[in-house]
Amino acid sequence: MELLERVRRAARWRAYLVRAGAVRAPRALGPGAAAVALTFDDGPEPESTPEVLDVLARHGATATFFCVGHRARSHPELLRRVEAEGHAIGSHSLTHRVSGLGPRAVLADFDEGHSAVEEVLGRPVRLFRPPHGNLDWGVVPGLRARPFRTWLWTVDSGDYEPGATTESIARRAGAATAGDVVLMHDALEEAAPGAPPRTTMVDALPEVLEGLRARGLRTVALQ
Ligand SMILES: [Zn+2]
Repeated sequence: MELLERVRRAARWRAYLVRAGAVRAPRALGPGAAAVALTFDDGPEPESTPEVLDVLARHGATATFFCVGHRARSHPELLRRVEAEGHAIGSHSLTHRVSGLGPRAVLADFDEGHSAVEEVLGRPVRLFRPPHGNLDWGVVPGLRARPFRTWLWTVDSGDYEPGATTESIARRAGAATAGDVVLMHDALEEAAPGAPPRTTMVDALPEVLEGLRARGLRTVALQ
């Protein structure tokens, strides 16, 4: 199935699963939080994650990174830098390539990715986000049996979409209001043809952060 269609299908499932209580409500920050959670998926990636960290540090911002297990293993020092700079870390599967696999294989990939992140950090990890936000019914019972806190998102920056620009990313991510969880990517697994380079997203980040601050919204890490 084509990537964008998978994402759309996942969005339809997601709404149903959240209503059914199968995953943590994406608005769990609460509308009174006066805060927004920025999240970065698919890293760590040496070409782009350090730039994201530098921008966040310049703005005194905190974020959450959902890391792919095979990249955590390849770049353990970078993952430890993310943690040392005060950001939250969750896992995001081992391979990111779980579409079309049966539930048992999907859960095994989730577990191995989670273990890879824990091994690098040397501590238990609780946060988790499935690739593409895709959770079908075959996976949900197994996921609920695990001590994961599964977070999806409420605002999609579209920073992985073909044709996305610095302006479009800044506009969409900048539309976040209190309690929102914003989807961004410090790397791109399974990038669609025409997806922008990560520098396009990094260039949008200062405007997003300044816009949030101007509206009295702070950034928080997911818990
Ligand atoms: Zn992803």
